[in-house]
Amino acid sequence: MQPAALIELDRVARSFDNGAVVAVQDVSLSIFPGDCISIVGPSGSGKSSLIQLMCGMDSPTSGTVVWKGRAITDRPEWTRLRSSEIGVIFQDFLLLPHLTAVQNVQIAISAKALNAAATRQKAIAALESVGLGHRVHHLPHALSGGERQRIAVARGLVNQPKLLLVDEPTGSLDSKSAAVVSRLLLDLQSQEGHALVLVTHDLDLAKRCPQRIVVSDGRIVETRR
Ligand code: ADP
Ligand code: MG
Repeated sequence: MQPAALIELDRVARSFDNGAVVAVQDVSLSIFPGDCISIVGPSGSGKSSLIQLMCGMDSPTSGTVVWKGRAITDRPEWTRLRSSEIGVIFQDFLLLPHLTAVQNVQIAISAKALNAAATRQKAIAALESVGLGHRVHHLPHALSGGERQRIAVARGLVNQPKLLLVDEPTGSLDSKSAAVVSRLLLDLQSQEGHALVLVTHDLDLAKRCPQRIVVSDGRIVETRR
């Protein structure tokens, strides 16, 4: 029997400027626990918009986004999901420059969930899992691009999400760092078993995901599994 979907998009569309710009149109898809899916498509085809809609950082103009069987429409609910069941990683890392590596990971852990010492321990363990156990007290500017992205990976996974959304994780990296980050994302996915949705320009990386979605002009034009 097919397990229940984690997230389902039902005829989702997103337009801007009163419909003048259509970023996403008529997208229906279901993502199941443990799926490993890449999304490829030309620049401007709606990939980032799709990621934003899947984590509730943006809302559809029409259609619904359903998390574990329930349509999610309000912002606080999405915020709660992003601090528990959904992790997100962006091309530009989005680390806070004045916080150390461990502090950048700690901010993703809900203050209510754990005491300070346990929070710190958990953040350190996440950094160790991305090979940065020796860099926990460094500020982002003192680290390479690849190391910064690995901090973002630790932050994205620290709450052991069911779904990890990753938007062009290697887009700002040199080829060697890109290879390290790509390997890490795929290895962690198979170890931890979360569903991974990986937007990438890198076709070789995309092909390493068992499922591939191709988007063009805001639509899914091909699904391979
Ligand atoms: P991709 O990530 O595939 O490059 P995006 O999802 O960023 O594509 O963008 C899809 C389309 O939507 C583009 O034409 C882009 O210019 C437009 N778009 C995205 N965000 C906005 C916005 N906030 N306001 C207006 N247009 C936007
Ligand atoms: Mg994009």
